[in-house]
Amino acid sequence: MLITVMGLVIAERNVGENDRFIDILTAEYGVVELCVKGAQKITGKNNAATQLLSYGKFCFNRRNERYYLNSSEQVKVFYKIRLDMKKLALASYFIEISKYCVTTGQSAKDVMSLLLNSLHFLSEDLRSCEFLKSVFEMRFMAEIGLMPQLIGCRDCYKYEADEMYFMVDRACLLCGEHFEYRDFEENYYHIKLTKTVLHTLRFICLADMKRVFNFKIGEKSQKLLNEITEKFILVHLSKNFKTLDFYKQICDEEKLDN
Ligand SMILES: [Zn+2]
Repeated sequence: MLITVMGLVIAERNVGENDRFIDILTAEYGVVELCVKGAQKITGKNNAATQLLSYGKFCFNRRNERYYLNSSEQVKVFYKIRLDMKKLALASYFIEISKYCVTTGQSAKDVMSLLLNSLHFLSEDLRSCEFLKSVFEMRFMAEIGLMPQLIGCRDCYKYEADEMYFMVDRACLLCGEHFEYRDFEENYYHIKLTKTVLHTLRFICLADMKRVFNFKIGEKSQKLLNEITEKFILVHLSKNFKTLDFYKQICDEEKLDN
């Protein structure tokens, strides 16, 4: 039986002298590993569509517990990302997170949409790396069911207060008053929010996917937002991402150069 899906190539590895395995992220089946026969030949008909960060149509069949690519058609390739070390590092981080959380056979429609949109904005230079990183981290968590409780203070439900804290481990908000009087969470990681950053967090989690990249944020707020979204994802996925370390290393080198 032939299966046809739209997919994004998120990993590739050559096998032997001719063949290649690729992982594609699909809306219907999550991550699917495909064997591409003859992919390493220059004349291979599937060469274009099976390279990293290529998005297109994949037609494959199943034999002996494996999926074999039959034909492919490239629709878009985010090639500009591959020309820029920092962008490539960030895209690799997005992909590592996605691969870590999405398994085979599980629908991944919203994650895929988030990833494709993020890569588009990254590739076309429409938003900064810092901006896209924050949006991806927070929205990704929301999409996989790990959205923090951002409606209001956990204890009094106040939507806004002069002081608001984001409790990273507890994934909730506390107003200044309730933050003061709690005595049980001293060791938990918390970050004091500004109104702008609180609104931004709510927007990223709740806005329609089509609009989630449509906001502006100042440099100072962006820095705070980034601290929150990164901490949040690392704490709740309990994992260190090597690609994130690499991305941060590039950012540090960039700062030294300036
Ligand atoms: Zn409160």
